[in-house]
Amino acid sequence: MIAPAAYISEQRDRHSAHLSIVMPVYNECAVLDRLTEEVVAATEKQCRSLEIVYVNDGSMDGSAEKLDQLAAQDERIVIVHLARNFGHQAAVHAGLEHATGDAIVLMDSDLQDDPVAISDFLTQWERGMDVVFAERKNRKESLPKRILFHSFYRVVNAIADQPMPEDAGNFSLMDRCVVDAVLQMPEFDRYLPGLRNWVGFQQCGVSVERLARHDDNPRVSLTGLFRLAMTAIFSFSSVPLRLFYAIASISAVVCVAASTFVLYHKALTGLAIPGWASTIITASFFGALNAFGISVLGEYVIRIYDQVRSRPVYLVSNVRRRPVSKRPANEASEQQHGLLAELDQQYNSPNKTEAAR
Ligand code: UDP
Ligand code: MG
Repeated sequence: MIAPAAYISEQRDRHSAHLSIVMPVYNECAVLDRLTEEVVAATEKQCRSLEIVYVNDGSMDGSAEKLDQLAAQDERIVIVHLARNFGHQAAVHAGLEHATGDAIVLMDSDLQDDPVAISDFLTQWERGMDVVFAERKNRKESLPKRILFHSFYRVVNAIADQPMPEDAGNFSLMDRCVVDAVLQMPEFDRYLPGLRNWVGFQQCGVSVERLARHDDNPRVSLTGLFRLAMTAIFSFSSVPLRLFYAIASISAVVCVAASTFVLYHKALTGLAIPGWASTIITASFFGALNAFGISVLGEYVIRIYDQVRSRPVYLVSNVRRRPVSKRPANEASEQQHGLLAELDQQYNSPNKTEAAR
């Protein structure tokens, strides 16, 4: 059931790219001049044209005015002002929607993501990679935060339905076809590294040092990080639901073992404590029944959730067809020829995608 192509990215020369850099900004006024200089210096030589998309996520520290000033001085800079603070992931989504590049780099605007790494990203992209993500090493963050991030990535990697690379956050380069696929997913609760991983295509990591924040005041609170971790787990893993199957099975085993034990003593040894048998058997039986009921209910819920998220059933990265000339004669009416030739042109160009629901 292939639906009409939702998007087809045409063949592009990856060596003369139109590059977009997307950066969400929330109260980062102090570093915007330096950040812009560093990003321009690190990228302009390696691309045909450059676009910097800053998303002002409801800043209140003068970042909005500073960004407008930067855009007035440099026509490569685009500013998207959000109506209020919508949060990091929403700002990222807005930035991707407004980026027009063949390749899109996503990075934070607090100087933690080193623009120098973009050159390596571009090199990998030119070699044919569709996603190049930063594998963050040597995080220059507080010890509790480092432990939290370390544990989070390992847990998500262990339980995700589709294996996720460890230590890969937002900092990455995505080909236009990947960004189109990611934007096509309308789910509200978004975890970009998960969506980017889910769509597939050719992906690789590049080791990048995670620098220190320009100030000691993270804009995403610990509660925000915790919520994001929940989104990552519940959107990309069915393990939490499957736990109830395990609980149901364990309760069922306990129920059978306890029943056998007490019935044996009641019938054969007379050592059974009055009332204990019925309590244990009923408790473990209803424990198992409850957990099983939750599992069944969960199966319905997860199907509803999948339907509501409306992710594509699959994504196509390439379709190869026989050239028109090699097709059987009965396909060769003039009209068909014209239509098939057009399709050939569309489908047989490398690096094209179509999505089907
Ligand atoms: N950010 C944003 N909206 C928010 C919070 C943060 O656009 O509500 C931006 C922020 O300016 C920074 C990036 O998102 O560029 C990451 O934020 P932060 O450094 O606080 O996150 P952390 O690095 O601690 O994960
Ligand atoms: Mg940061």
